[in-house]
Amino acid sequence: MGKTSKDKRDIYYRKAKEEGWRARSAFKLLQIDSECHIFDGVSKAVDLCAAPGSWSQVLARKLTENYKKALEKGPASKPKIVAVDLQAMAPLEGVIQLQGDITNSSTAEQIIAYFDNSRADLVVCDGAPDVTGLHDMDIFIQSQLLLAALNIATYILRPGGTFVAKIFRAKDVSLLYAQLRIFFPYVYCTKPSSSRNSSIEAFVVCKDYSQPEGYEPNMLNPWMMEDSWDFDKLTGVNRTIVPFIVCGDLNQPDSDMSYPLNYDGKEYKYHEPVQAPIAPPYAEALLMNRKRAEKSVSTFNENNVDVDLSTLD
Ligand code: SAM
Repeated sequence: MGKTSKDKRDIYYRKAKEEGWRARSAFKLLQIDSECHIFDGVSKAVDLCAAPGSWSQVLARKLTENYKKALEKGPASKPKIVAVDLQAMAPLEGVIQLQGDITNSSTAEQIIAYFDNSRADLVVCDGAPDVTGLHDMDIFIQSQLLLAALNIATYILRPGGTFVAKIFRAKDVSLLYAQLRIFFPYVYCTKPSSSRNSSIEAFVVCKDYSQPEGYEPNMLNPWMMEDSWDFDKLTGVNRTIVPFIVCGDLNQPDSDMSYPLNYDGKEYKYHEPVQAPIAPPYAEALLMNRKRAEKSVSTFNENNVDVDLSTLD
């Protein structure tokens, strides 16, 4: 294949090089902005999973434009952009860079430290795992990146702030939307035209960040996977974010209790199971057991011992 074949196949790859973007992904963020206006009034932003840095380039350009416009009206705060990735990134003017894993609490704490007592207006995350080809696995890892990004956002976004993140539109995507809706009244899913149709990637644009009353961000272990996690320490809304609904009449029998056979006052009568398993995986083991038992019975019978084979299953 010649040098130009990728330029022919991928117009955005070609345009990115022509316009000086480090990756074709720049167009995705620009197209999201043209529809959803995510940069309006933004002066502080975090770019999660940022390498090689085209989204950071877009942020640097847009936030500088905002700064210049704001200066025309009076004093304005300088843009602040923090970019993070597992991989090292070549330096970019006006962008603070951190190398680390966003699912790791120490990386998250470093990002939070950069904001000290201030807050970000915008958090973006274009995180994607190295695709394994095992779709369920890739989708799961992608969702964990999104949740890690959301967790970091709950620390540093100002009320009213915006969160934009890559999402895989797969089977359980509604669960992710529901989790996002806990923090953002407006959650949209968008697919920029620069994102290939063949890819299940899309982007969530979540606006107007509002923490549920009493919610406290928690960096200990948002996914409750560490042994040290102590769920009992959580209180109020932090403990029960997701509504839980009990179904069924409380007068019905309790499935965890043992009851006498005549518990309802009626005479007990045994019933066969309505449908026995047709080909249970344990059938072969039972057959082997039975054959072994029959063999030993014949030995017993030589000694006139009576054995009931039905008890052997
Ligand atoms: N938005 C970037 C740009 O415009 O240049 C492209 C991002 S690229 C599609 C996905 C990035 O996610 C990769 O650079 C990868 O290293 C990063 N990534 C994946 N898992 C990560 C993690 N756990 N922590 C930090 N970065 C991660």
